[in-house]
Amino acid sequence: ETTLVWLRDDLRIRDNPALHAATLRDGAVVALYVLDDESDGIRPLGAASRWWLHGSLERLGDALAALGVPLVLRRGRSREVVPAAAIAANAGAVYWNRRYGSAEAAIDRDVETTLTEHGCAVETFAATLLHEPWTLRPASGPHYRVFSPFWKAALDQGEPRKPLGAPDIRNRRAFPLDTDVLADWKLRPTRPDWSGGLAETWRPGEEGARDRLEDFLDGGLEGYAANRDRPDCHATSMLSPHLRFGEISPFQVWHAVRSGEPGNDAEKFLTELGWREFSWHLLFHNPDLASVNFQKKFDAFAWRDDRTSLEAWQRGRTGIPMVDAGMRQLWHSGWMHNRVRMVAASFLIKNLMIDWREGEAWFWDTLVDADAANNPASWQWVAGSGADAAPYFRIFNPVLQGEKFDPEGRYVRTWVPELEGVPDRMIHKPWKAGASGSGGDYPQPIADLGETRRRALSAFKDLPG
Ligand code: FAD
Repeated sequence: ETTLVWLRDDLRIRDNPALHAATLRDGAVVALYVLDDESDGIRPLGAASRWWLHGSLERLGDALAALGVPLVLRRGRSREVVPAAAIAANAGAVYWNRRYGSAEAAIDRDVETTLTEHGCAVETFAATLLHEPWTLRPASGPHYRVFSPFWKAALDQGEPRKPLGAPDIRNRRAFPLDTDVLADWKLRPTRPDWSGGLAETWRPGEEGARDRLEDFLDGGLEGYAANRDRPDCHATSMLSPHLRFGEISPFQVWHAVRSGEPGNDAEKFLTELGWREFSWHLLFHNPDLASVNFQKKFDAFAWRDDRTSLEAWQRGRTGIPMVDAGMRQLWHSGWMHNRVRMVAASFLIKNLMIDWREGEAWFWDTLVDADAANNPASWQWVAGSGADAAPYFRIFNPVLQGEKFDPEGRYVRTWVPELEGVPDRMIHKPWKAGASGSGGDYPQPIADLGETRRRALSAFKDLPG
Protein backbone atom coordinates (compact mmCIF):
# COMPACT_ATOMS: atom_id res chain seq x y z
CA GLU A 1 0.00 0.00 0.00
CA THR A 2 1.33 3.40 -0.98
CA THR A 3 1.92 6.25 1.44
CA LEU A 4 1.58 9.70 -0.07
CA VAL A 5 3.60 12.51 1.50
CA TRP A 6 2.23 15.94 0.70
CA LEU A 7 5.13 18.40 0.82
CA ARG A 8 4.60 22.15 1.20
CA ASP A 9 6.90 24.42 3.20
CA ASP A 10 9.19 21.52 4.07
CA LEU A 11 11.17 20.86 0.90
CA ARG A 12 13.77 18.61 2.48
CA ILE A 13 14.60 14.97 3.03
CA ARG A 14 16.35 15.19 6.37
CA ASP A 15 14.45 15.98 9.53
CA ASN A 16 11.17 15.73 7.69
CA PRO A 17 8.81 13.96 10.12
CA ALA A 18 6.07 13.26 7.56
CA LEU A 19 8.51 11.69 5.11
CA HIS A 20 10.27 9.88 7.90
CA ALA A 21 7.04 8.37 9.23
CA ALA A 22 6.04 7.32 5.71
CA THR A 23 9.27 5.38 5.33
CA LEU A 24 8.50 3.38 8.46
CA ARG A 25 5.48 1.90 6.70
CA ASP A 26 5.64 -0.95 4.26
CA GLY A 27 5.04 -0.24 0.62
CA ALA A 28 5.94 2.53 -1.75
CA VAL A 29 6.26 6.17 -0.84
CA VAL A 30 5.20 8.89 -3.26
CA ALA A 31 5.79 12.62 -2.66
CA LEU A 32 3.40 15.27 -3.92
CA TYR A 33 3.82 19.02 -4.36
CA VAL A 34 0.82 21.11 -5.36
CA LEU A 35 1.21 24.61 -6.76
CA ASP A 36 -1.98 26.18 -5.49
CA ASP A 37 -2.53 29.79 -6.55
CA GLU A 38 -6.25 29.37 -6.76
CA SER A 39 -7.72 28.39 -3.42
CA ASP A 40 -9.49 31.12 -1.48
CA GLY A 41 -7.28 32.95 0.95
CA ILE A 42 -4.02 31.62 -0.46
CA ARG A 43 -1.59 34.39 -1.20
CA PRO A 44 0.10 33.63 -4.52
CA LEU A 45 3.87 33.49 -4.25
CA GLY A 46 5.82 36.55 -5.29
CA ALA A 47 8.14 36.48 -8.29
CA ALA A 48 11.37 35.93 -6.34
CA SER A 49 9.77 33.13 -4.32
CA ARG A 50 8.63 31.45 -7.52
CA TRP A 51 12.16 31.57 -8.82
CA TRP A 52 13.33 29.95 -5.59
CA LEU A 53 10.63 27.33 -5.62
CA HIS A 54 11.69 26.13 -9.06
CA GLY A 55 15.24 25.50 -7.91
CA SER A 56 14.14 23.93 -4.68
CA LEU A 57 11.76 21.50 -6.36
CA GLU A 58 14.39 20.56 -8.89
CA ARG A 59 16.85 19.63 -6.13
CA LEU A 60 14.18 17.91 -4.08
CA GLY A 61 13.04 15.84 -7.06
CA ASP A 62 16.60 14.59 -7.57
CA ALA A 63 17.11 13.81 -3.89
CA LEU A 64 13.81 11.96 -3.61
CA ALA A 65 14.49 10.01 -6.80
CA ALA A 66 17.75 8.78 -5.29
CA LEU A 67 15.66 7.32 -2.47
CA GLY A 68 13.24 5.69 -4.89
CA VAL A 69 10.51 8.21 -4.13
CA PRO A 70 8.94 9.93 -7.15
CA LEU A 71 8.04 13.60 -6.74
CA VAL A 72 4.67 14.22 -8.33
CA LEU A 73 3.90 17.81 -9.32
CA ARG A 74 0.34 19.01 -9.69
CA ARG A 75 -1.23 22.41 -10.06
CA GLY A 76 -4.65 23.58 -8.89
CA ARG A 77 -6.89 23.66 -5.87
CA SER A 78 -5.44 21.52 -3.12
CA ARG A 79 -8.88 20.48 -1.87
CA GLU A 80 -9.43 18.65 -5.15
CA VAL A 81 -5.92 17.88 -6.32
CA VAL A 82 -4.65 16.14 -3.21
CA PRO A 83 -7.51 13.63 -2.81
CA ALA A 84 -7.37 12.95 -6.58
CA ALA A 85 -3.66 12.21 -6.38
CA ALA A 86 -4.16 10.00 -3.32
CA ILE A 87 -6.78 7.96 -5.12
CA ALA A 88 -4.66 7.70 -8.26
CA ALA A 89 -1.72 6.52 -6.15
CA ASN A 90 -3.91 3.99 -4.39
CA ALA A 91 -2.68 5.53 -1.16
CA GLY A 92 -3.68 3.94 2.11
CA ALA A 93 -2.28 6.86 4.04
CA VAL A 94 -1.43 10.50 3.42
CA TYR A 95 1.08 12.29 5.64
CA TRP A 96 2.03 15.94 5.87
CA ASN A 97 3.69 18.47 8.14
CA ARG A 98 1.34 21.07 9.57
CA ARG A 99 0.90 24.65 8.33
CA TYR A 100 -0.14 27.63 10.42
CA GLY A 101 -1.77 30.15 8.08
CA SER A 102 -5.54 30.12 8.49
CA ALA A 103 -6.43 29.52 4.82
CA GLU A 104 -3.80 26.78 4.63
CA ALA A 105 -5.02 25.12 7.82
CA ALA A 106 -8.63 25.26 6.57
CA ILE A 107 -7.59 23.54 3.34
CA ASP A 108 -5.72 20.89 5.29
CA ARG A 109 -8.75 20.16 7.48
CA ASP A 110 -10.98 19.80 4.42
CA VAL A 111 -8.49 17.56 2.64
CA GLU A 112 -8.25 15.42 5.76
CA THR A 113 -12.04 15.08 5.87
CA THR A 114 -12.25 14.07 2.21
CA LEU A 115 -9.42 11.57 2.53
CA THR A 116 -10.86 10.02 5.65
CA GLU A 117 -14.19 9.59 3.87
CA HIS A 118 -12.30 7.67 1.21
CA GLY A 119 -10.84 5.39 3.86
CA CYS A 120 -7.43 6.95 3.69
CA ALA A 121 -5.54 7.41 6.94
CA VAL A 122 -4.17 10.91 7.55
CA GLU A 123 -1.37 11.75 9.90
CA THR A 124 0.13 15.19 10.43
CA PHE A 125 3.36 16.29 12.09
CA ALA A 126 5.14 19.29 13.59
CA ALA A 127 8.17 20.22 11.50
CA THR A 128 8.35 23.88 10.65
CA LEU A 129 8.34 25.61 14.02
CA LEU A 130 10.10 24.74 17.25
CA HIS A 131 6.89 25.57 19.09
CA GLU A 132 3.53 25.25 17.45
CA PRO A 133 1.58 28.47 17.98
CA TRP A 134 -0.98 27.02 20.38
CA THR A 135 1.57 25.38 22.66
CA LEU A 136 2.67 28.65 24.25
CA ARG A 137 -0.05 30.42 26.20
CA PRO A 138 0.18 33.51 28.38
CA ALA A 139 -1.42 33.59 31.82
CA SER A 140 -3.97 36.05 30.46
CA GLY A 141 -5.15 36.99 26.99
CA PRO A 142 -5.47 34.79 23.92
CA HIS A 143 -1.81 34.97 22.88
CA TYR A 144 1.50 36.68 23.54
CA ARG A 145 1.84 40.21 22.22
CA VAL A 146 5.34 40.92 23.47
CA PHE A 147 8.40 39.01 22.41
CA SER A 148 10.33 38.67 25.70
CA PRO A 149 7.69 36.79 27.70
CA PHE A 150 6.92 34.72 24.62
CA TRP A 151 10.53 33.69 24.26
CA LYS A 152 10.93 33.08 27.96
CA ALA A 153 7.95 30.72 27.87
CA ALA A 154 9.47 28.98 24.85
CA LEU A 155 12.82 28.51 26.58
CA ASP A 156 11.05 27.26 29.70
CA GLN A 157 9.78 24.34 27.63
CA GLY A 158 13.31 22.98 27.45
CA GLU A 159 15.44 22.07 24.48
CA PRO A 160 13.60 21.38 21.21
CA ARG A 161 13.67 17.79 19.98
CA LYS A 162 16.74 16.50 18.12
CA PRO A 163 16.53 16.42 14.32
CA LEU A 164 15.76 13.17 12.54
CA GLY A 165 18.32 11.68 10.19
CA ALA A 166 17.97 10.96 6.50
CA PRO A 167 15.38 8.30 5.69
CA ASP A 168 16.42 5.11 3.98
CA ILE A 169 13.84 3.72 1.58
CA ARG A 170 15.66 2.56 -1.51
CA ASN A 171 14.37 -0.20 -3.76
CA ARG A 172 10.66 0.06 -3.23
CA ARG A 173 8.51 0.07 -6.30
CA ALA A 174 6.47 3.22 -6.51
CA PHE A 175 3.13 3.41 -8.23
CA PRO A 176 3.57 5.31 -11.51
CA LEU A 177 1.67 8.57 -11.35
CA ASP A 178 1.23 11.44 -13.80
CA THR A 179 3.19 14.52 -12.99
CA ASP A 180 3.42 18.01 -14.41
CA VAL A 181 6.72 19.06 -15.88
CA LEU A 182 8.34 21.68 -13.66
CA ALA A 183 9.42 23.83 -16.61
CA ASP A 184 5.79 24.15 -17.71
CA TRP A 185 4.99 25.96 -14.49
CA LYS A 186 7.14 28.83 -15.76
CA LEU A 187 8.22 29.80 -12.27
CA ARG A 188 11.39 31.36 -13.63
CA PRO A 189 11.37 34.61 -15.56
CA THR A 190 12.37 34.45 -19.22
CA ARG A 191 11.77 37.74 -21.00
CA PRO A 192 13.16 39.74 -19.38
CA ASP A 193 15.18 37.39 -17.24
CA TRP A 194 15.94 39.44 -14.14
CA SER A 195 17.11 36.48 -12.11
CA GLY A 196 20.87 36.66 -12.77
CA GLY A 197 21.60 38.29 -9.41
CA LEU A 198 19.51 35.68 -7.61
CA ALA A 199 21.37 32.82 -9.29
CA GLU A 200 24.68 34.47 -8.40
CA THR A 201 23.75 34.75 -4.74
CA TRP A 202 21.85 31.57 -3.94
CA ARG A 203 21.72 27.83 -4.31
CA PRO A 204 18.15 26.80 -3.48
CA GLY A 205 17.71 23.33 -2.03
CA GLU A 206 18.69 21.24 0.93
CA GLU A 207 22.38 21.02 0.07
CA GLY A 208 22.65 24.75 -0.41
CA ALA A 209 21.01 25.19 2.99
CA ARG A 210 23.38 22.78 4.67
CA ASP A 211 26.40 24.49 3.14
CA ARG A 212 25.17 27.91 4.28
CA LEU A 213 24.77 26.66 7.82
CA GLU A 214 28.19 25.02 7.83
CA ASP A 215 29.90 28.10 6.42
CA PHE A 216 28.17 30.28 8.94
CA LEU A 217 29.05 28.11 11.92
CA ASP A 218 32.61 27.69 10.66
CA GLY A 219 33.47 31.33 10.84
CA GLY A 220 30.36 33.39 11.32
CA LEU A 221 28.94 32.78 14.74
CA GLU A 222 31.77 34.36 16.67
CA GLY A 223 31.02 38.06 16.73
CA TYR A 224 27.42 37.53 15.57
CA ALA A 225 25.94 39.55 18.43
CA ALA A 226 28.29 42.46 17.80
CA ASN A 227 28.21 42.41 14.01
CA ARG A 228 24.74 41.25 13.03
CA ASP A 229 23.67 44.87 12.64
CA ARG A 230 26.50 45.66 10.23
CA PRO A 231 25.42 45.24 6.62
CA ASP A 232 29.04 45.69 5.54
CA CYS A 233 30.20 42.65 7.55
CA HIS A 234 28.42 39.54 6.17
CA ALA A 235 27.88 38.50 9.77
CA THR A 236 24.46 36.86 9.50
CA SER A 237 23.63 33.36 8.30
CA MET A 238 21.53 34.17 5.18
CA LEU A 239 19.51 31.09 6.03
CA SER A 240 16.18 32.91 5.77
CA PRO A 241 15.04 31.65 2.33
CA HIS A 242 16.16 28.12 3.21
CA LEU A 243 14.11 28.28 6.41
CA ARG A 244 11.20 29.83 4.55
CA PHE A 245 11.00 26.89 2.12
CA GLY A 246 11.83 24.35 4.77
CA GLU A 247 15.03 23.20 3.10
CA ILE A 248 16.45 23.17 6.58
CA SER A 249 14.44 22.89 9.78
CA PRO A 250 14.75 25.13 12.82
CA PHE A 251 15.53 21.96 14.79
CA GLN A 252 18.57 21.29 12.63
CA VAL A 253 19.75 24.87 12.95
CA TRP A 254 19.10 24.94 16.68
CA HIS A 255 21.09 21.81 17.47
CA ALA A 256 23.91 22.67 15.08
CA VAL A 257 24.35 25.92 17.03
CA ARG A 258 24.02 24.15 20.37
CA SER A 259 26.78 21.71 19.45
CA GLY A 260 29.21 24.62 19.06
CA GLU A 261 30.64 27.12 21.52
CA PRO A 262 28.05 28.26 24.05
CA GLY A 263 27.85 31.96 24.83
CA ASN A 264 26.32 35.26 23.98
CA ASP A 265 26.67 34.91 20.20
CA ALA A 266 24.90 31.55 20.17
CA GLU A 267 22.09 32.81 22.42
CA LYS A 268 21.60 35.91 20.30
CA PHE A 269 21.36 33.84 17.14
CA LEU A 270 18.87 31.41 18.69
CA THR A 271 16.83 34.41 19.80
CA GLU A 272 16.53 35.44 16.16
CA LEU A 273 15.04 32.05 15.43
CA GLY A 274 12.71 32.98 18.28
CA TRP A 275 11.53 36.06 16.37
CA ARG A 276 10.53 33.80 13.54
CA GLU A 277 8.56 31.68 15.99
CA PHE A 278 6.97 34.82 17.43
CA SER A 279 5.87 36.09 13.99
CA TRP A 280 4.14 32.78 13.33
CA HIS A 281 2.52 32.89 16.76
CA LEU A 282 1.13 36.32 15.86
CA LEU A 283 -0.03 35.24 12.40
CA PHE A 284 -1.72 32.14 13.76
CA HIS A 285 -3.74 34.23 16.18
CA ASN A 286 -4.20 37.13 13.73
CA PRO A 287 -4.70 35.66 10.26
CA ASP A 288 -5.11 39.12 8.67
CA LEU A 289 -1.70 40.33 9.77
CA ALA A 290 -0.69 41.28 6.22
CA SER A 291 -3.76 43.38 5.53
CA VAL A 292 -5.14 44.71 8.82
CA ASN A 293 -3.47 46.99 11.36
CA PHE A 294 -2.90 45.01 14.51
CA GLN A 295 -3.66 48.20 16.45
CA LYS A 296 -6.98 49.41 15.12
CA LYS A 297 -6.28 53.08 15.78
CA PHE A 298 -3.93 53.02 12.78
CA ASP A 299 -6.96 52.53 10.54
CA ALA A 300 -7.54 56.27 10.87
CA PHE A 301 -4.07 57.17 9.65
CA ALA A 302 -3.94 59.43 6.58
CA TRP A 303 -1.41 57.66 4.40
CA ARG A 304 -0.18 59.60 1.40
CA ASP A 305 -0.93 58.32 -2.07
CA ASP A 306 2.33 59.10 -3.84
CA ARG A 307 3.16 56.75 -6.71
CA THR A 308 6.23 58.69 -7.80
CA SER A 309 7.91 58.39 -4.41
CA LEU A 310 6.84 54.77 -4.05
CA GLU A 311 8.51 53.98 -7.37
CA ALA A 312 11.65 55.87 -6.44
CA TRP A 313 11.80 53.79 -3.26
CA GLN A 314 11.23 50.53 -5.13
CA ARG A 315 13.96 51.31 -7.64
CA GLY A 316 16.49 52.54 -5.10
CA ARG A 317 16.45 56.12 -6.35
CA THR A 318 15.36 58.07 -3.27
CA GLY A 319 18.64 59.94 -2.96
CA ILE A 320 19.14 58.48 0.54
CA PRO A 321 22.16 56.16 0.18
CA MET A 322 21.33 53.65 2.93
CA VAL A 323 17.78 53.22 1.65
CA ASP A 324 18.84 52.98 -1.99
CA ALA A 325 21.62 50.50 -1.23
CA GLY A 326 19.12 48.25 0.53
CA MET A 327 16.47 48.49 -2.16
CA ARG A 328 19.04 47.72 -4.87
CA GLN A 329 20.47 44.81 -2.89
CA LEU A 330 16.91 43.50 -2.70
CA TRP A 331 16.25 43.94 -6.41
CA HIS A 332 19.53 42.33 -7.38
CA SER A 333 19.77 39.46 -4.91
CA GLY A 334 16.27 38.97 -3.50
CA TRP A 335 17.52 39.66 0.01
CA MET A 336 18.30 42.65 2.20
CA HIS A 337 20.19 42.91 5.44
CA ASN A 338 17.89 43.15 8.46
CA ARG A 339 19.17 46.52 9.70
CA VAL A 340 18.67 47.99 6.24
CA ARG A 341 15.19 46.45 5.96
CA MET A 342 14.28 48.44 9.07
CA VAL A 343 15.79 51.63 7.71
CA ALA A 344 14.20 51.28 4.26
CA ALA A 345 10.81 50.40 5.77
CA SER A 346 10.95 53.30 8.21
CA PHE A 347 11.78 55.71 5.38
CA LEU A 348 8.77 54.55 3.36
CA ILE A 349 6.35 54.60 6.27
CA LYS A 350 7.53 57.57 8.29
CA ASN A 351 9.32 59.92 5.92
CA LEU A 352 7.20 59.27 2.82
CA MET A 353 4.10 58.41 4.89
CA ILE A 354 3.19 55.65 2.44
CA ASP A 355 1.04 52.80 3.77
CA TRP A 356 3.17 49.97 5.17
CA ARG A 357 1.08 47.53 3.11
CA GLU A 358 2.65 48.94 -0.08
CA GLY A 359 6.08 48.13 1.25
CA GLU A 360 5.02 44.75 2.53
CA ALA A 361 3.63 43.86 -0.91
CA TRP A 362 6.86 44.94 -2.65
CA PHE A 363 8.93 42.85 -0.26
CA TRP A 364 6.55 39.93 -0.75
CA ASP A 365 7.19 40.06 -4.48
CA THR A 366 10.95 40.64 -4.41
CA LEU A 367 12.32 38.79 -1.37
CA VAL A 368 13.46 35.20 -1.79
CA ASP A 369 12.68 34.77 1.91
CA ALA A 370 9.22 36.40 1.65
CA ASP A 371 7.50 34.85 4.60
CA ALA A 372 3.78 34.99 5.33
CA ALA A 373 4.43 35.75 9.00
CA ASN A 374 7.83 37.45 9.24
CA ASN A 375 7.13 39.96 6.52
CA PRO A 376 3.87 41.49 7.76
CA ALA A 377 4.89 41.18 11.43
CA SER A 378 8.10 43.09 10.71
CA TRP A 379 6.36 45.76 8.65
CA GLN A 380 3.80 46.32 11.38
CA TRP A 381 6.61 46.46 13.91
CA VAL A 382 8.31 49.27 12.00
CA ALA A 383 5.01 51.05 11.37
CA GLY A 384 4.25 50.99 15.07
CA SER A 385 0.90 49.36 14.34
CA GLY A 386 1.98 45.88 15.39
CA ALA A 387 1.63 43.77 18.50
CA ASP A 388 5.05 44.40 20.01
CA ALA A 389 5.75 47.47 17.94
CA ALA A 390 8.38 50.14 18.05
CA PRO A 391 6.62 53.28 19.30
CA TYR A 392 5.53 55.68 16.56
CA PHE A 393 8.10 58.30 17.55
CA ARG A 394 10.93 55.91 16.77
CA ILE A 395 11.89 57.10 13.34
CA PHE A 396 15.11 55.73 11.97
CA ASN A 397 17.42 58.42 10.70
CA PRO A 398 18.99 56.78 7.64
CA VAL A 399 22.04 59.04 7.78
CA LEU A 400 22.86 58.24 11.41
CA GLN A 401 22.03 54.56 10.87
CA GLY A 402 24.41 54.51 7.94
CA GLU A 403 27.17 56.25 9.86
CA LYS A 404 26.79 53.84 12.73
CA PHE A 405 26.37 50.53 10.92
CA ASP A 406 28.22 51.16 7.65
CA PRO A 407 30.87 53.55 8.91
CA GLU A 408 33.16 53.46 5.89
CA GLY A 409 30.31 53.26 3.42
CA ARG A 410 31.40 49.88 2.08
CA TYR A 411 27.85 48.59 1.93
CA VAL A 412 26.56 51.72 0.24
CA ARG A 413 29.37 51.76 -2.32
CA THR A 414 28.70 48.11 -3.18
CA TRP A 415 25.14 48.83 -4.20
CA VAL A 416 25.27 52.48 -5.21
CA PRO A 417 28.38 52.67 -7.37
CA GLU A 418 27.57 56.26 -8.38
CA LEU A 419 28.80 57.22 -4.92
CA GLU A 420 32.16 55.52 -5.32
CA GLY A 421 34.11 58.80 -5.19
CA VAL A 422 32.22 60.41 -2.30
CA PRO A 423 34.43 60.68 0.79
CA ASP A 424 33.57 58.42 3.74
CA ARG A 425 32.36 61.22 5.97
CA MET A 426 29.84 62.33 3.31
CA ILE A 427 28.87 58.92 1.96
CA HIS A 428 25.57 58.78 3.84
CA LYS A 429 24.64 62.41 3.04
CA PRO A 430 26.11 63.14 -0.39
CA TRP A 431 23.74 66.06 -0.93
CA LYS A 432 25.83 67.93 1.62
CA ALA A 433 29.06 67.22 -0.23
CA GLY A 434 28.34 69.80 -2.91
CA ALA A 435 28.40 69.23 -6.65
CA SER A 436 31.94 67.87 -6.73
CA GLY A 437 31.36 65.20 -4.12
CA SER A 438 28.07 63.61 -5.11
CA GLY A 439 28.26 61.13 -7.89
CA GLY A 440 26.96 61.13 -11.45
CA ASP A 441 23.22 61.06 -11.89
CA TYR A 442 22.57 59.98 -8.32
CA PRO A 443 19.34 61.76 -7.35
CA GLN A 444 18.90 64.48 -4.77
CA PRO A 445 16.86 63.26 -1.75
CA ILE A 446 13.18 62.98 -2.62
CA ALA A 447 12.29 63.98 0.94
CA ASP A 448 13.83 66.33 3.46
CA LEU A 449 14.59 64.06 6.39
CA GLY A 450 14.01 66.68 9.09
CA GLU A 451 10.80 68.10 7.68
CA THR A 452 9.21 64.74 6.92
CA ARG A 453 10.19 63.49 10.36
CA ARG A 454 8.31 66.35 11.98
CA ARG A 455 5.35 65.77 9.68
CA ALA A 456 5.23 62.10 10.65
CA LEU A 457 5.54 62.79 14.35
CA SER A 458 2.62 65.13 14.33
CA ALA A 459 0.49 62.84 12.14
CA PHE A 460 1.13 59.82 14.35
CA LYS A 461 0.66 61.85 17.51
CA ASP A 462 -2.79 62.89 16.34
CA LEU A 463 -4.01 59.30 16.17
CA PRO A 464 -6.79 58.63 18.66
CA GLY A 465 -6.10 56.70 21.86
P1 FAD B 1 20.10 35.73 10.79
O1 FAD B 1 20.48 36.92 11.58
O2 FAD B 1 21.17 34.80 10.42
O3 FAD B 1 18.94 35.00 11.61
C1 FAD B 1 18.66 33.60 11.51
C2 FAD B 1 17.21 33.38 11.19
O4 FAD B 1 16.36 33.91 12.20
C3 FAD B 1 16.75 34.04 9.91
O5 FAD B 1 17.07 33.27 8.78
C4 FAD B 1 15.26 34.19 10.13
O6 FAD B 1 14.57 32.99 9.85
C5 FAD B 1 15.18 34.44 11.62
N1 FAD B 1 15.15 35.89 11.87
C6 FAD B 1 16.19 36.74 11.99
N2 FAD B 1 15.77 37.99 12.25
C7 FAD B 1 14.42 37.93 12.28
C8 FAD B 1 13.40 38.90 12.52
N3 FAD B 1 13.68 40.17 12.79
N4 FAD B 1 12.12 38.50 12.48
C9 FAD B 1 11.81 37.21 12.22
N5 FAD B 1 12.73 36.24 12.00
C10 FAD B 1 14.02 36.60 12.03
N6 FAD B 1 12.40 37.63 7.49
C11 FAD B 1 11.97 36.61 6.73
O7 FAD B 1 12.39 35.48 6.92
N7 FAD B 1 11.06 36.82 5.75
C12 FAD B 1 10.53 38.06 5.48
O8 FAD B 1 9.68 38.19 4.59
C13 FAD B 1 11.01 39.15 6.24
N8 FAD B 1 10.56 40.42 6.01
C14 FAD B 1 11.04 41.45 6.77
C15 FAD B 1 10.56 42.76 6.53
C16 FAD B 1 11.02 43.83 7.28
C17 FAD B 1 10.48 45.23 7.02
C18 FAD B 1 11.97 43.61 8.30
C19 FAD B 1 12.48 44.75 9.13
C20 FAD B 1 12.43 42.34 8.55
C21 FAD B 1 11.98 41.24 7.81
N9 FAD B 1 12.43 39.94 8.06
C22 FAD B 1 11.96 38.90 7.29
C23 FAD B 1 13.30 39.62 9.22
C24 FAD B 1 14.81 39.64 8.95
O9 FAD B 1 15.18 40.81 8.27
C25 FAD B 1 15.31 38.44 8.16
O10 FAD B 1 14.81 37.25 8.71
C26 FAD B 1 16.84 38.37 8.17
O11 FAD B 1 17.40 39.54 7.63
C27 FAD B 1 17.30 37.16 7.41
O12 FAD B 1 18.69 37.14 7.30
P2 FAD B 1 19.56 35.98 7.95
O13 FAD B 1 19.01 34.66 7.58
O14 FAD B 1 20.98 36.26 7.58
O15 FAD B 1 19.32 36.27 9.49
